[in-house]
Amino acid sequence: MSYVDEVLARIHAENSGEPEFLQAVDEVLESLRPVIAQDENKFRRDAVLERLCNPDRQIKFRVSWVDDSGQVQVNTGYRIQFNNAIGPYKGGLRFHPSVYTGIIKFLGFEQIFKNSLTGLPIGGAKGGSDFDPKGKSDREVMAFCKSFMNELYRNIGPNKDVPAGDIGVGGREIGYLFGQYKKLVKHYEGVLTGKGIGWGGSLARTEATGYGLVYIAEELLKCHGYDMAGKTVVISGSGNVAIYAAEKCTMLGAKVVTVSDSTGWIYDRDGIDINLLKEIKEVRRERLTAYKDARPECEYHEGRGVWQIPCDLALPCATQNELTEDDAKLLVSNGCIAVCEGANMPATPEATKYLQENGVLFISGKASNAGGVATSALEMAQNSERTSWSFEEVDSRLKDIMVNIYHNIDDAAKRYGLEGNYVAGANIAGFEKVCDAMISQGI
Ligand code: NDP
Repeated sequence: MSYVDEVLARIHAENSGEPEFLQAVDEVLESLRPVIAQDENKFRRDAVLERLCNPDRQIKFRVSWVDDSGQVQVNTGYRIQFNNAIGPYKGGLRFHPSVYTGIIKFLGFEQIFKNSLTGLPIGGAKGGSDFDPKGKSDREVMAFCKSFMNELYRNIGPNKDVPAGDIGVGGREIGYLFGQYKKLVKHYEGVLTGKGIGWGGSLARTEATGYGLVYIAEELLKCHGYDMAGKTVVISGSGNVAIYAAEKCTMLGAKVVTVSDSTGWIYDRDGIDINLLKEIKEVRRERLTAYKDARPECEYHEGRGVWQIPCDLALPCATQNELTEDDAKLLVSNGCIAVCEGANMPATPEATKYLQENGVLFISGKASNAGGVATSALEMAQNSERTSWSFEEVDSRLKDIMVNIYHNIDDAAKRYGLEGNYVAGANIAGFEKVCDAMISQGI
């Protein structure tokens, strides 16, 4: 049995209740086969893959808080510190009812390679809770965040582990978490990223994941002879990543015609009104039905369905496994040129394979959504220097990072005879740096 197959068998046996984690490991290890085959015995002796696929540590804790009726509520909190070979642990916190160990492990595992691809010194981690901020009052969200930090603070620090936002964790939640951390440790330090601009945050961090996604898509298209201007773009989601991806596409002259949330989706042939979308989602925190109310000429549909709309570029920006093989068939039959993942693992393995086999340019989230964490690392750098850079400076560094990531993954794929396979390219390029660091640092 090959070393990769041995490790896959062991990881599957030990994590059988965690399908999302197994899906992420399968994808990475399958594409590392040519790298491992170069010196299989050495990789096996050093147990590189077992060390990579088992987190350094998993922290799980109870979070008790009091709701507005006086009832005590109990949720579970997680922080999974996966790998710090190249820098302090770094990765977001997700607050969503679907969160359990397997989701946090999949996200933490992906984060190792993504952070490596940024070229910046950050290791991989992820955390969160099954708490659902939707429908909660501000006071309830604050009570939850403070209680969550009462446990988490012992395990994080600016040189140890620096969490950020993810689904359900935006500027408001980061503020409450930071306030409690500061109260507990009595230090004002850059322990979280995504902070407010007036208290240690970086300009362009809010925009970074969505903008970065569009920068890499633009470079991909350019290198294949296409221009962003005039392209029709289909986007799923209407959260942080989706909003700023839509904004940057529009700024570059493309037309974004869809957005979605967990209850329905909008098809606006004239192009999504970005200011209206921001007002509804960022300020009023309402559903997309409010968008339809404000623009009656657009279509609103319950459920899912954005991938049936003809487009040149598709940007899935909501959640994992939201783009299936059937969706991929619709995209191909409608002439889609490229799919770049804004969310983490939004395309199922079958969808990815179908798109790649049918000539659609495809970049996986590890590479294409790395702009968020890259800018978080720039926030850490600014905090360490006790300075803040202009929006233009951060944005221009972000663009350089995304263009470099594209060429890095393109080059890695070519080195292994896999030209055009950016999924393999991202996994290989991300792995090489982390693997070298792990081996250099010994057991
Ligand atoms: P937000 O919470 O801001 O937005 C998430 C969006 O996706 C919302 O529109 C939400 O709808 C929708 N959504 C979430 N879960 C589901 C579901 N199960 N089914 C259908 N729709 C769903 O999160 P972000 O925009 O920050 O994150 C989106 C994705 O991008 C995630 O995969 C995240 O891990 C990834 N990502 C985010 C980064 C960041 O910097 N924010 C960085 C890198 C990756 P609703 O409001 O109805 O729940």
